[in-house]
Amino acid sequence: MSTQKIRLTILGATGSIGASTLDVVTRHPDRYEVWALTGAEQVEKLAAACVFHRPRYAVTLEESSAERLRGLLAVAGSDTEVLYGADALVRVATMPEVDAVMAAIVGAAGMPPTLAAARAGKKVLLANKETLVLAGHIFMQAVEQNDATLLPIDSEHNAIFQSLPHPYHGDLKAAGVKRILLTASGGPFRGFSADELEKVTPEQAVCHPNWSMGRKISVDSASLMNKGLEVIEAHWLFNAPAETIQVVVHPQSVIHSAVEYIDGSVVAQLSAPDMRTPIAYALAYPERITSGVAPLDLFAVGRLDFEQPDLERFPCLRLAYEALRAGAAAPAMLNAANEVAVAAFLERRIGFTDIPRLIGSVLDQSVGQPAGSLDDLMRADQLARELARQHSLCC
Ligand code: NAD
Ligand code: MG
Repeated sequence: MSTQKIRLTILGATGSIGASTLDVVTRHPDRYEVWALTGAEQVEKLAAACVFHRPRYAVTLEESSAERLRGLLAVAGSDTEVLYGADALVRVATMPEVDAVMAAIVGAAGMPPTLAAARAGKKVLLANKETLVLAGHIFMQAVEQNDATLLPIDSEHNAIFQSLPHPYHGDLKAAGVKRILLTASGGPFRGFSADELEKVTPEQAVCHPNWSMGRKISVDSASLMNKGLEVIEAHWLFNAPAETIQVVVHPQSVIHSAVEYIDGSVVAQLSAPDMRTPIAYALAYPERITSGVAPLDLFAVGRLDFEQPDLERFPCLRLAYEALRAGAAAPAMLNAANEVAVAAFLERRIGFTDIPRLIGSVLDQSVGQPAGSLDDLMRADQLARELARQHSLCC
């Protein structure tokens, strides 16, 4: 093991992935030093993490939150410096002292500092899948051109990464790979009829059977949009065409994904459903460290089931495949429309089955939108948000 500690910035430290990352880091004080922690709100939680981990910087989104955080840290005698705003997120993701960046902000808001970390040649631990859905081409180019290291945190992509040969050079054929088998739990509404889906509530949607996650990704898991975003994420991470990515519903969430080779071998990664496993893997790669995750008890699991995804009851997955095949601005607009739709659903302004209706209507208008540059993609994102807001008012 190397003697120098890895300096880590955690973007989205107050969220679910942020908390799991801090848990793993706390188990290995000889290996990791927290350089910066960021959080949009939840100032008390951020303050407690600062007092415990003693980062050099803490970043909030708004000035008012920064003021509150400064107050709490002063009382606690902390010498963490508090910054705020989107530029500060980029700053703490790119400082020369930083070795690795955990990208765990939720939504498209996570893209600018994540892209900046790649451009600065950092080791990027990527939880924020929306970065790849919004600007996959530009992000992957930044990783390559700046010699950044990219390690997937999403459990499925981490499993695929572990199941591919190392090094993998972005060519499935050359690696002897036939297909990627991307597993999905099916979410809390897997067995629901179309009629039952019309009536589900935000409380039911955020209650995932296997994973404890933030609210947005929990709703995405319930609608299968999370799997759709993950298909696009896998496309960019592994240079995999849409037709080589097969979604497999696997309700136990024990197999986190698999790679099928041309000789008939299927290599998979299994573990208890706890994000600390992929986080520990990425933090220590290519070494292994303990994560605090309970060992997988196959006798307790007993059986593993598999089903085809139902694209009729869960049209979000179909829409994501369509957006990936359409390319250009379509994935960015799918992502933005989904963020608006999920927020509207959580605020009870639209129903659960309105989510795919709204996204479908926005996607219809994505044809011909320019997508060559980052500015083009940001404009497409804004247009999709505007269209989605208008649509949500008339649902
Ligand atoms: P979360 O809602 O629990 O936490 C989100 C974090 O982002 C918080 O720290 C929040 O303060 C911050 N944030 C929110 N809006 C922001 C903004 N506009 N600017 C700056 N910071 C902002 O979310 P999560 O479940 O931890 O998910 C984080 C990311 O990881 C998402 O992209 C999600 O898809 C991905 N992911 C999560 C899991 C999981 O198990 N939770 C698994 C795989 C991938
Ligand atoms: Mg996942």
